[in-house]
Amino acid sequence: MARETRTARLLKKTCISESAQCYHFEFAIEGVETFDFHPGQFISTVAVDPNGKTQTRAYSIASAPSNNRFELCVNRVEGGFFSNHLADLTDMPVGGTLQVHGPYGHFILQQPVTDAIFVATGTGIAPMRGFTQWLFPEDGPDRSEGKEIWLVYGTRHESEIYYADYFQQLAAKHPNFHYVSTLSRAQEAWTGNRGYVQQYVEQIVDVRGGGANIPDDTPKDQLPAFSIYTYICGLNNMVSAVRTMLAEHGWHKKQIIFERYD
Ligand SMILES: Cc1cc2nc3c(=O)[nH]c(=O)nc-3n(C[C@H](O)[C@H](O)[C@H](O)COP(=O)(O)OP(=O)(O)OC[C@H]3O[C@@H](n4cnc5c(N)ncnc54)[C@H](O)[C@@H]3O)c2cc1C
Repeated sequence: MARETRTARLLKKTCISESAQCYHFEFAIEGVETFDFHPGQFISTVAVDPNGKTQTRAYSIASAPSNNRFELCVNRVEGGFFSNHLADLTDMPVGGTLQVHGPYGHFILQQPVTDAIFVATGTGIAPMRGFTQWLFPEDGPDRSEGKEIWLVYGTRHESEIYYADYFQQLAAKHPNFHYVSTLSRAQEAWTGNRGYVQQYVEQIVDVRGGGANIPDDTPKDQLPAFSIYTYICGLNNMVSAVRTMLAEHGWHKKQIIFERYD
């Protein structure tokens, strides 16, 4: 059954990595005052391709709720339809429009807020930006309740560390927010972290702990209130690697919340 779509107008488009052809988009839904969603959810976008076929894709919302606005972070996929359709939208002089429905998804923060490790690669950073904007709003009370929040972010090259300024400033301002970025294909001159996200997540887990060593088949009503969760977003290989590592450290599957892009 076709879902009712809404029209979103592009307010602003910014190229945030020339080399990765990654764009940040700010949209407003027309005709409504508010667009309600949980940080971390995604929207579905709909457009007709050059063959006349209606195409639908999912995109994580890269912002926290704010009036009728939502933001996206999308990189061009070579030969792909929708990523290029979005990247070709123009915001000047009047923004192009996009048909969307949603929000959807269960990749949302547990309530009440607990310690948390956010793990992302590439545009998997989008929902993490939504989480941190909600936990640490610029113009409102802090919702992190003093919990320790780590963000471990992996990309290949330095030019692909999306939103680095925002996350660095957040870490400087909030002692309970810890930002770790790592490059898998760093140039020689790079002095920061190297390697894959899972090794940095493992370091946090080794110090913080969190593995409750409870069998995965324990009935739901007998599970304890976990004091830490890991939220993982990106391509399946990375998500699987982090889940496996956490399971080996005794983490229960309910403590691991993930969103796969492929
Ligand atoms: C829940 C969810 C949330 C998502 N959120 C985002 C987001 O915030 N930002 C974002 O950029 N993408 C996101 N994606 C991926 C997005 O939905 C599309 O798959 C992506 O933009 C490619 O679509 P396309 O139409 O350009 O390519 P397609 O025409 O669908 O595919 C073209 C070719 O590229 C391959 N391909 C598809 N996706 C990728 C990829 N991500 N990397 C490399 N190769 C790929 C396909 O296997 C195919 O061979 C999300 C996916 C899901 C399921």
